[in-house]
Amino acid sequence: MAEDVRDWELETKLVRGGLTRTPYGEISEALFLTQSFAYDTAGAADRRFSGEEPGFIYQRFGNPTTAMFEERLALLEGAEVCRATASGMAAVHVALQGLVRAGDHIVAGRALFGSCRWILSDWMGRFGVEVTYVDATDLEAWKNAVRPNTKAFLVETPANPLLEVTAIGAVADIAHAAGAKLVVDNVFATPVFQKPLALGADVVVYSATKHIDGQGRVLGGAILGAEQVMTEAYKDILRHTGPALSPFNAWVLLKGLETLDLRVRRQAENASKIAEVIASHGKAKQVLYPGRPDHPQAAIIANQMTGGGNVVAFDLGSREAAWRFLDALAIVDISNNLGDAKSMATHPSTTTHRSMPEEQRLEIGLTQGWVRMSVGLEGVGDLSRDVSRALDAA
Ligand SMILES: *Cc1c(COP(=O)(O)O)cnc(C)c1O
Repeated sequence: MAEDVRDWELETKLVRGGLTRTPYGEISEALFLTQSFAYDTAGAADRRFSGEEPGFIYQRFGNPTTAMFEERLALLEGAEVCRATASGMAAVHVALQGLVRAGDHIVAGRALFGSCRWILSDWMGRFGVEVTYVDATDLEAWKNAVRPNTKAFLVETPANPLLEVTAIGAVADIAHAAGAKLVVDNVFATPVFQKPLALGADVVVYSATKHIDGQGRVLGGAILGAEQVMTEAYKDILRHTGPALSPFNAWVLLKGLETLDLRVRRQAENASKIAEVIASHGKAKQVLYPGRPDHPQAAIIANQMTGGGNVVAFDLGSREAAWRFLDALAIVDISNNLGDAKSMATHPSTTTHRSMPEEQRLEIGLTQGWVRMSVGLEGVGDLSRDVSRALDAA
């Protein structure tokens, strides 16, 4: 019986989606470290290049291992097409650049990963593309920002670092009414807890560096969407500008996907407990975790996410207290990454968001006392003890 792989349960897609085997029948996915491919005849090369015959041509265009990763992630996301990139930033850059040309306009939620903010503030302007930032939780602000030349909306939800959540469906409706496409950076939610395409987004981007690897090894990224937008907006730019993912990294990420569901569910369980430990300790002025009923957008979260993710943010009131907290940690690392099996915490004002001018940081509520913690897979008793001790020291 032929199975329709699109009907598989999430866990089955993660383990078997996209699997193609060589005649050796290997169980673990093969790693094809090859740049190019040989053709039986000159005519076969001609047909391959013209697209008349399917098949691989060159690693910059595609590779069998990378294709397995793309197919697996596409199945998981419910996307017609996935294209892998060398990093999350390559994915964000191409996802935006492919939708605009000189004279166009982008609207973006103002709480964004630092490098995404750089692309919008420092890079797009060089090509005559204008950008308006909005408070992503304010639907009127999205509406008011629209201009006749608006072609793309970008939002990160939950956003870095304070986990602000945007109603994807409502913002998609505003984008579509304006003739623009909505791009969602879904890194914090992971494909396990939120499906932006099903909620109305046109394009989803990932840094696969985060939870998809989840074990701190390689960079990677992905762009997903319907066949039409993936072909019209991205096919040529991906081929000719060269942000291709290395097949080795694709293989690491493909194997990472097999355990993604197990890992992020356990991480979210741990994060929820750690958020409670921090809230009940009393030292933090505010604790933000998308799985808590006291999150400012709890109602939206209930509508569009099936889990809170693994990142917790909390305000210790001053930079000094935040630093004392970090320096007192014995298990949790001080590091700016997230989604890893190892727990880590960072002080965004002096690390991930230091290049953002202070007035912009204050606009998104990022004062000096905030700590962002990515909760890992360690025993939650050990993590609770470490965090409680550090809160005492703060
Ligand atoms: C890390 C991250 C990126 C960039 O990904 P890289 O793989 O580091 O290039 C983009 N968006 C978000 C939300 C991220 O956390």
